Amino acid sequence: MIGLISATAAGTAARDRLATAWPGRTRVYDGPVRETVQRAFAECEQLVCFLATGAAVRLLAPLLADKATDPGVVCVDEAGRYAVSLLGGHGGGANSLAAEVGSVLAATPVITTATDATGVPGLDTLGLPTEGALAAVTRAMLDGAPVTLRADTVWPLPPLPPNVRRGGPLGGGGVAAAPLGGDEGGAAGHAISGTPKAVAPHTASPDRTRGPVSAAPGNGGPRVLVTDRVVDLGPVDVVLRPPSLVVGVGASRGVGVDEVYGLVLDALGDAGLSPLSVVELATVDAKADEPGIVGAADRLGVAVRTYPADALAAIDVPNPSGAPLAAVGTPSVAEAAALAAGRGGELLVPKRKSSPEGRPAMATCAVVRRAPRGRLAVVGLGPGARDLLTPRAAAELRRASVLVGLDQYVDQIRDLLRPGTRVIESGLGHEEERARTAVAEARAGHAVALIGSGDAGVYAMASPALAEAADDIDVVGVPGVTAALAAAAILGAPLGHDHVSISLSDLHTPWEVIERRVRAAAEADIVVTFYNPRSRGRDWQLPKALALLAEHRTAKTPVGVVRNASRPDGTSHLTTLARLDPATVDMMTVVTVGNTATREIAGRMVTPRGYRWQSEGTR
Ligand code: SAH
Repeated sequence: MIGLISATAAGTAARDRLATAWPGRTRVYDGPVRETVQRAFAECEQLVCFLATGAAVRLLAPLLADKATDPGVVCVDEAGRYAVSLLGGHGGGANSLAAEVGSVLAATPVITTATDATGVPGLDTLGLPTEGALAAVTRAMLDGAPVTLRADTVWPLPPLPPNVRRGGPLGGGGVAAAPLGGDEGGAAGHAISGTPKAVAPHTASPDRTRGPVSAAPGNGGPRVLVTDRVVDLGPVDVVLRPPSLVVGVGASRGVGVDEVYGLVLDALGDAGLSPLSVVELATVDAKADEPGIVGAADRLGVAVRTYPADALAAIDVPNPSGAPLAAVGTPSVAEAAALAAGRGGELLVPKRKSSPEGRPAMATCAVVRRAPRGRLAVVGLGPGARDLLTPRAAAELRRASVLVGLDQYVDQIRDLLRPGTRVIESGLGHEEERARTAVAEARAGHAVALIGSGDAGVYAMASPALAEAADDIDVVGVPGVTAALAAAAILGAPLGHDHVSISLSDLHTPWEVIERRVRAAAEADIVVTFYNPRSRGRDWQLPKALALLAEHRTAKTPVGVVRNASRPDGTSHLTTLARLDPATVDMMTVVTVGNTATREIAGRMVTPRGYRWQSEGTR
């Protein structure tokens, strides 16, 4: 809930606008300001105070307890010009709240937390639990001081600034750990072109789980450690806990929460593993609602995942037994469920039983470490104009530590990238190679963005990339405004009824196939947008396609020609099937041909939604 507090008439008017804009999300506090601030502070996750920052600071200061639990606070000035993120910028969500308040009240958001202002991701915003000297290490990152990153393996982290250097892997229990692999380029600064490096696979050995790890501070400088293992932290160390551990749990009916929870903590503790890296408890379907398991998952803050008994029975485990076979129909629950949820990861802790005093054990558990999964975002940049690039696309570009794309598209968005992003760019005609590179980088565990103009799935990179990808990476698609839509908005409303896109490029598609599709669209009276309509070496296809359409549409059928839609040198004109001059069309152009109902109205191209709908509208 967002508490709203005001003191003056102007503040109250702005407050009411916010309350109206966000019904159900806000609570209005009336009364003397000091008391209302106290009450709202105790009752709400966030506050918007229509007060001077000075007044707000004085009222809030005695209430502050802990950055982790205090509400986020935004102050809006009397004139409603600024929405100031005052407290809890990251954890309390005040920075994003300031932006939201700003857009409702037309106020400028004021963000002063350093990591947001500089483009460096806050270590507390990476979505991973953290422990240790967060503030000190963040400060060092911002100051440009040398910071060492040490990780057990590659995780798909956002880019970190160039002063964050990759150190060697963490040692484990006196045993040399696997090499870090692959991401050295992440420290090498902005805009590096090249091919991906080979990456050592995740080669954890059970010895590496014995802890605590003596991650002895080398030069005593600040460090970011990425590990699921218990580590001895130095005074300027922060540890990020990757989502790497799954715990399989088996239990008899009626098991207590304490027994399950205690068993899991003991198993992790004895293996030198951190509970903050646990992502799931896994068990058999029959135990999905077992209160002891559900309660333990709640305490760990993780979900319960379940599997059918026959799926678990099919998994090879080191310690099968007769008891679960009789009870639920699989010779293993804990180990089999952990291995199933662990996606082929390594069994770090084989089955162990709880040891309650004076009665038989009712719970078993086993721990598996998942290999990290890289992340491939396939991002459409839109037709060219910056304000037609979606906020989600911008966020994904900043989330990725590796960017793969055609050089001219990379240039379009270079300013959006965070310092430290590794850029792999190549020229026209290397589509397959770009797709392969992007997938290989994701497979190596990185957070990768593969970019394309318009929508990256329309005659673009998404298909070759996903044809290449297996289910060992996460894929996120971000839609973009494709050229047909950008052009349609300029032309008027040509796509008001059924429409189709056809690429006239016969480089990869035989002309007979293209012609068959054009004929089908012609016969079905569908509006057609031609992509790749004409280039210097391919000039007869467009006239041929238009002639096929003309067999079923009159010479006066409107045709819209849009070149460089939404770009500074963009042009467009409206003509007809008979009068279109192919010389006005090139590879930067789309051509939209109306159906038999499409009309030119006041210089705009309009395809009616349908005769019935139109007549109903006028009745
Ligand atoms: N993925 C892109 C299309 C790639 S195919 C998209 O979704 O828009 C390349 C063709 O798209 C070009 O030959 C041209 O026909 C069209 N195109 C792309 N951007 C354009 C723009 N800004 N204006 C007009 N046509 C464009």
